[in-house]
Amino acid sequence: MNVLLVEDEESIALPLATLLRAEGWAIETAGSVGAARALLGRCAFDAALIDLGLPDGSGYEVCRAVRAAGNAAVIMLTARSDEDSVVRALEEGADDYVAKPFRARELVSRLRAVLRRRGAGERQRFGGLCIDARAAQVTLKGAALALTAQEYRLLLHLTSQPGRVWERGQLLQALWDDGGAFVEDNTLSVTIKRLREKLGSEGARITTVRGIGYRWEEQL
Ligand code: CA
Repeated sequence: MNVLLVEDEESIALPLATLLRAEGWAIETAGSVGAARALLGRCAFDAALIDLGLPDGSGYEVCRAVRAAGNAAVIMLTARSDEDSVVRALEEGADDYVAKPFRARELVSRLRAVLRRRGAGERQRFGGLCIDARAAQVTLKGAALALTAQEYRLLLHLTSQPGRVWERGQLLQALWDDGGAFVEDNTLSVTIKRLREKLGSEGARITTVRGIGYRWEEQL
């Protein structure tokens, strides 16, 4: 796991980098927008932790550069938890934010949560349901669940961001992606119904958002 840490205050960057390395991650640090851009040109990252206030620009610029370079998870480190910078950070494509001052442990657990949500190789657990995206295996109370390719893809898509409302069109697009064949709107309803049935009591996590689409509930 390669992590890019962009932070100009050494009193924050150094201990944080040490802690992240102790977690087994490879860390590259940059203290400016320019240094971050140079690193992005050289390495691929799985995640980026980006301070908002940098000496030669803003963390938003780095966030956009990270987004342009690949699919890394982004957490913004904001000096304030004021709504404007939080909203802007999320609009710029950040997955989450942590307001300063933060505890390094809190940041590590936020990072793990973001990576889990993005399905970056880790297993996701929801009650008795376990989704292993690497092995393409889903188990319910320890027993393997037989899902069709469409049901599996739909499940991965919904669980990638618990709590997020997905429009029907977005889900249809996701189902269509590598199937090649046209997917009718009715197919989505049918696939949701079958998936709910196969998931048993955990199927209640798929909630219908009337007139819009569906949402995956992290908590039942
Ligand atoms: Ca700063």
